[in-house]
Formats: sequence, structure tokens, C-alpha cells
Amino acid sequence: MAFTSKAPHTCKYCQQITLDLTHSGSITQFSCGVEEAIGADEAGCPLFHGFIDDLQKNTSTRNILATGGILNLGLRYLKEDLPFSPAIIEPLVRETSDDEWQHVFFGKFPSLSLWTCEGDAASADISTRPYELDNASVASVDFARNCIQSCQLNHDECRRSTSDLMAREGPTSIDPKAIPSRLLLITSTSSGLHVELVGKGLPSAIKTNSVALDGFAILSYCWGGPQPVELTRRNILDFGKGIQVSKLPKSLRDAAWFTHKIGLKYLWIDALCILQDNNEDKVREISRMELYYGQSTVTICAASAAKCTDGFLTSREEDPATYAIGPIQLRAKTSSGTLGFVQGTAESDYFNNWKPQEPITLRGWTLQEALLSRRILIFSSDHLHFTCTVANATCGGIEPKLKPRVMTGYESRVEGVHTLSGLRSYPVREVWTKVVDSYTIRGLGFPTDKLPAVSALASSLIPMARARNQKVEYLAGLMLDASEPENYYWRTEFLWRVHHVQSTCHIPIGSPSWSWSSVNGRISMYVFSQPKPWSSTDGVQLLEYGVDLENEIAPFGVVKGGFVKIHTRTKSLNASIKNVDYTIAMDYDPSDRMVDPNRTLLALCPDTPKGVDRIELAIQGELDLLLVELIPFYENYTSPAGLIVAEASGPNRYVRVGIYECQQRDHQTGAELAMRKSFFDNSSVQDVYIV
Ligand SMILES: [Zn+2]
Ligand SMILES: [Zn+2]
Repeated sequence: MAFTSKAPHTCKYCQQITLDLTHSGSITQFSCGVEEAIGADEAGCPLFHGFIDDLQKNTSTRNILATGGILNLGLRYLKEDLPFSPAIIEPLVRETSDDEWQHVFFGKFPSLSLWTCEGDAASADISTRPYELDNASVASVDFARNCIQSCQLNHDECRRSTSDLMAREGPTSIDPKAIPSRLLLITSTSSGLHVELVGKGLPSAIKTNSVALDGFAILSYCWGGPQPVELTRRNILDFGKGIQVSKLPKSLRDAAWFTHKIGLKYLWIDALCILQDNNEDKVREISRMELYYGQSTVTICAASAAKCTDGFLTSREEDPATYAIGPIQLRAKTSSGTLGFVQGTAESDYFNNWKPQEPITLRGWTLQEALLSRRILIFSSDHLHFTCTVANATCGGIEPKLKPRVMTGYESRVEGVHTLSGLRSYPVREVWTKVVDSYTIRGLGFPTDKLPAVSALASSLIPMARARNQKVEYLAGLMLDASEPENYYWRTEFLWRVHHVQSTCHIPIGSPSWSWSSVNGRISMYVFSQPKPWSSTDGVQLLEYGVDLENEIAPFGVVKGGFVKIHTRTKSLNASIKNVDYTIAMDYDPSDRMVDPNRTLLALCPDTPKGVDRIELAIQGELDLLLVELIPFYENYTSPAGLIVAEASGPNRYVRVGIYECQQRDHQTGAELAMRKSFFDNSSVQDVYIV
């Protein structure tokens, strides 16, 4: 039987129980004989089922159940302590002859969380409510407004992530330098909501002081194909005169409505605030997106909408599958002396991992939009959530107030939508590794967006690295620690791997072959710790590097080409496989990075199906490929690894085909060890120029 908060479980057995909300921690007893409890379980009462199920698992209580002795069942009510914990009830049991109550479980749950419905007498004692199902309701708008205000007032971290100016001038002000070039000004008229585009190239200028003080909202959403309404050179003056919100696609309409409801006047939406037919405008605005998302008052994340016409202000049915137990309705004696009702529930999976991913987490651009934000309202398929740099909350349910992230232990309740926050404490390269891993799973409308769609994030990370005295260079998607030409970390940036060779292809744009941005498909960066007896004398050096930017004002944007010149040992692939156990690795599993843990072998990992063909030809001796050493053998701590390259046009020029790695099993033989150790012995040292 499936229950919801509107149709909770109730039966004659559990209705005999009255929780005393005035006595927290005391045991609200209800004695009952074993036979009665078993009868309630058999009649389908989930509360008693929880008890009996657990008692049967325990040998001593199992006997009493069998012999029909007297057990006392109890419920301990613990008051809420929001935002840290909701009110709960814990199941307890004791034998009649015993004084000690024993804790039992409701199935696998140690307690049930309690909430009560709006207007119930118990609402004076219990402030949690069932999940709000209507994203446009008064409760949803109030929730959003309260979360934003509470974050602005109480979270130094969320303010600090903008600028010092904010700390000086109050919690709601925005750095004037970060105000977008154009904004939609929302006004309410008798004929409905209007938006008027103000700013660059428009009749009305942006009132900087007003925006700096009042703030603005920003939309993160899936385009899902061409936009029915977008800003162009032709219609910009019409936009300046104002558009009726009802003429916009639903996701944009919903964003304007919600922004207005939470008391903000300004909204930024890419399709309406960037000239879509002007490349120069696009490049400039995209390079400023870091500021826009980072400094907006709140990001409205249309997580559940796969395209701009879907909208996200929906009212949905409650899904009974949300609950593993309940909701079970229980009577409650309230502090005002009257009788009310509460509902006890246990959620089946708090993170909804059993549900399909939200559409927004499948799109490339939206990753940085979330990571760069300081506050996000996430309109997911189930609930409305709020997340900021340090806290989380959900509209309804057991976490209705901002709960510090240290308590929750998770980034946000929607996988793939969260602020950079926790990641900020990691070394920049590690952050970037995580970003690339999750970014390359996502799709892009245009393959040429590969670098622009993470450019704002890259540009925010570089100053972070430099502030930590790291000389990090951004090179077509790679974060090179170039502080020492011989150091270790630049090398691992080149050792990215594709996940499934058969599903990848090269993108015919300017990215150099050594950048993951030249390949369409899921990528993982090389995870590698510095070898213990650190040696900087292996001679591998990064001599020169550079990229040819398509546009100088977008240093993190599209590149027309690039090169690296590495001084190292090389060896022909064909010669490398002589007397060596090797394999062509077609798939990569990051949880088990060994291609075959039972063998010490040379793993040849091509980037694309074409690379597979080339490696096969090289194995047969029909094509000359080179192995370029990046990670040498270090006293058994590392596996020799590097690039596989093919000759390109031009003297001594190469392109990347894949990577190789000499992987070792735990109990390798002396011969296997010698193979890895001497793999590059007698190889020539040269300057390899890779494009
Ligand atoms: Zn019942
Ligand atoms: Zn906050």
C-alpha cells in the first residue's frame, strides 16, 4: 500500500497511540501484548510492521514473539532542533519483567521523522511540513525569499565570495564592476508582467546604484535547441521598448515571474541579454559570465526543464515512492492542550538516486553556471531546493531551514548542481580534474563551445591558484603548473584518457591534439600522486608551449591551434612491444584504473577509433608511432607513462594519438619489474613538438 502526506496511513492499531509533544525525550508508552502487535503487523500497519520486523531479527525478542510473552513497545519523541534535526520518534522495546528499554529499528531506519500539515494544532510544536508540490505557491516564494535573506544576513562566506565592497556596504549590494552590460528590468502592469531590456546599445542605461543595491537574479537553464525569442541587432530596440512576459518561452517566463515574486527587479538571461548574432558581443559577454554568475543575488536553476519551452514552475503529484515508511498519521497532544496530528516518515532515498538525472545536469554550459554561483534556487523534478556556499535547504520535508553543509555532508540534493564552495579548499589542479571529469559527460549544442562553456570557471580558478603562489598556465583546457620546467604536475595534465574509445571522435576545430577539448567524449584526468623519493633529475622538461587564441579578449575561449615542446626520451611503438605483454585498452573504469589487474602490461590507450587503427598498423610495423616519455619509472612508485604520437605535417611535428602506461600488478616478477624499469633504456632523447 502506498501512502502520501495527503493520504497517510492510519489504522485502528496505530490510532491508539497519542504522542505527547509536551514531553520531549520521555517515552510515550503504549503497552501491548505480542499477539496484538503481530495482529497489527498482519493487518498491514507499517508502524507495527517496523517493530515486529526488527524484533524477529534479534534472538531474545524472537523467542518472546514465538512464545507469546508480554512485550512493551514504546516510542520516544525527540523535539526538533532546526536546522540541525527535525522532530523524530524512535522505537523502543522491553520485556515486561525488565526495566531497561532497548532501541530497535523501523526496518533499516533508527527513527521516523515527523512533520505536520499547515493549520494543524500540532504546527505550534512541529515546524516541518510535507514537501511543497507547487513551485509557484506562496510557500515556495516565501521559502525562496527567506533562504536568500538568511544567507545574505548570516553567511559571511557567501558575501566574501563576491568582494570586500559587499562586506562594507551591506549584505545585498553588488560590485558595480560585475553588473552585466544588459539586464531585463521587470515591471508589473495592468496587462501583466513586462520586461524591458536596459544597458548597452539601448535607450535606457542601467542604473548602476540601483542594481548594486537591489541585486539581480540570473537564469541557468537548458536551451534545448534554437531559441524562439533571442536578442539580435535587428530587434534590440524592440526589446528596449519592453516585451510582454507572456510572449517569452515558458522557462524564461517562469524566471521573470519568480524573480518578481521574490522582490528582485532585474534578471539576466543569456538569450535576451547577449546579441546572439554578434560574435564580438558574445565573446565579450561570455568572458564576463564569471562575474555575472558569481555576483548575482541568486541563480534560478531550471533543473527539471529539458528545453526553454518546458518551464519549471510546475505543480506535481506527490510520489509515494519517495517514502520507504509512511507517512503514518499519529495523534498528538500539543503544548496548547489540544489534540493534533503528526505524520511519521522515512524517505527511501533522500537524494533520489533512483530517479533519472535532472536534464540540466546533462548540459555542458550549466556546470560552470552552478559552480560559479553563490546561491542557487534549484527547481528539480521533485522539490524546490536552495543551496549556497555553506548551507542547504528544501521547501518542505525535514530540512526546511538553511542547514550548514558541514552537518549535511553533501553539496546539494541535486547531483551536479552546486556551488564551487567546498571545492575551493582543494588545490586548483584537483578542482579542475573534478570539473573536467564531470564536464565531459555533459552534452553541448555546438562542439565549438567546448572551451567557452568552462571558460568562466577557468578564469575564476587561475587567480585562485596565483594567490596561492602557483604559476598555473591555462592552455586550451589544461591547467599547467609551469613553475618549474621539470616539475611533475604539468606532465599529468597531458595524460587524460577517454572512457569509451568507440564513442569518441575528434572535433574538427582548432584545439591541439594534446588537449582533451579536441575530443568529443567522456574524459578522465590522470590521477597521480607525487612519487615518494621525488626526483627532479629525470630530464623530462617542458621547453615551450603556447596557444593561438581566436580572440585576444577571451584568453580562456576558443583556440585556433597550439603547441608544446617537450624534451624527453622517445621510443618507437613497434620496438616497445617486443617481448612485452601489451594490450590496446578500449575502455576506462576510473574506479579500477588498471586495464587488467592480473597482468603487468603495456596499456596502449587510443583517443578515438581512428587512433585504434593507427596503433594496430604500428603494431604490424606498417606505421611509425612514437612513445613519448612523461612519467619515468621511480623506484617502483610509478608506472612509466606518456603519450603516443604520430608524425604530422611539418618537420619534427607530431600529433597525439593516445597515451600509454606500463601498469604493474601487485606481485610482479623480477622480469616484469625489470621491463618497467628499463623500458626506455637506450632510447633517444629529443625535443618533441606536438600540435
Ligand atoms: Zn497503522
Ligand atoms: Zn549562504
